[in-house]
Amino acid sequence: MSSAASSLCCVTARAPAKVNLELMVGPRRSDGFHHLATVFQAIGLHDDVSVEPADEWGITVNGPYTDLVPADGTNLALRAARLLASEAGIDVPVHITIDKDIPVAAGLAGGSADAAGALLACDALWGVWSSKAAMEDLAAELGSDAPFALVGGTAMGSGRGDQLAPVLGRGRYHWVLALSDVGLSTPTVYAECDRLRSGLHVPAPAPSAPMMTALRSGDATLLGRALSNDLQPAALSLQPRLEEVLAVGLDNGALGGVVSGSGPTVAFLVSDTERGLDLAVALTASGAAPAVKRAVGPVRGAHLITAASGPRGSAGSTGRETGHGGPAGLRSS
Ligand code: ATP
Repeated sequence: MSSAASSLCCVTARAPAKVNLELMVGPRRSDGFHHLATVFQAIGLHDDVSVEPADEWGITVNGPYTDLVPADGTNLALRAARLLASEAGIDVPVHITIDKDIPVAAGLAGGSADAAGALLACDALWGVWSSKAAMEDLAAELGSDAPFALVGGTAMGSGRGDQLAPVLGRGRYHWVLALSDVGLSTPTVYAECDRLRSGLHVPAPAPSAPMMTALRSGDATLLGRALSNDLQPAALSLQPRLEEVLAVGLDNGALGGVVSGSGPTVAFLVSDTERGLDLAVALTASGAAPAVKRAVGPVRGAHLITAASGPRGSAGSTGRETGHGGPAGLRSS
């Protein structure tokens, strides 16, 4: 371990949620995953993941979703920390604290964000300072969306979504997220997608020209029209009330709306903050969405926000911010 590691007692990383602007689902692969072509955008809705040396491995989850997240060795953040420790030959257990604001099992990749945050925070705490490529490889072992949580911004994902390429995109987009009070399990949604498409020819997935044109132009109206998700019929089949959510959003000024990832969150694109506020009110007042969040995108990927040098909470932040690319952080609208 380097001297940098011994001087740190607590490190916090901030990691973003994502929405899928486009999700093309190809045939099932021999390993059980599907061939994907997707466009991710990181949005200003974050979890903060703090790590500090401890006598044994442990995890605490704070916030409204505590009951929905495992607080044991299956938690993706703890798995990430242990994976990095084993790769780097580190024998220093950590206690992880997640301040969770990303809804769980919502299609927003909250678990992947926590994995990315834990990798980055432990990497700094232990003074490993892995390369960007090495970190993305570890992230891919933890979840298909985890490499993107490190990279952030707007990016294209192929393979099972873990092979990333930058997208030439412009614009700052305002999102309204209609949340559900019942989550959807990702494997269940893929199984339903397979069921709905059984007997049909499923072509190899490829990014669409309208999506690429929209992102290059930075035109929110074009992007709203280009939003698409091959998992949407499956999510609607499993949660039919999402049809109403989509209808309310589109009737109340959204430029477009799409189920994010495996759902059940529906992401609506609006033209500005004011339209976002109006749409949030309409979704709540209609009873269509039990809860609504607003966020802007793209934002940067997981990055360090504190690296205290004294006992936790006593020394304050060094003010250092590092990250793995992506545009500078934009905050929720
Ligand atoms: P994705 O879009 O990447 O498929 P999701 O956003 O739909 O995922 P997550 O919030 O990542 O779903 O949670 C999926 C499941 O993972 C949860 O039901 C939970 O049991 C488990 N899980 C493990 N670790 C975490 C974590 N740190 N945060 C949230 N869920 C976790």
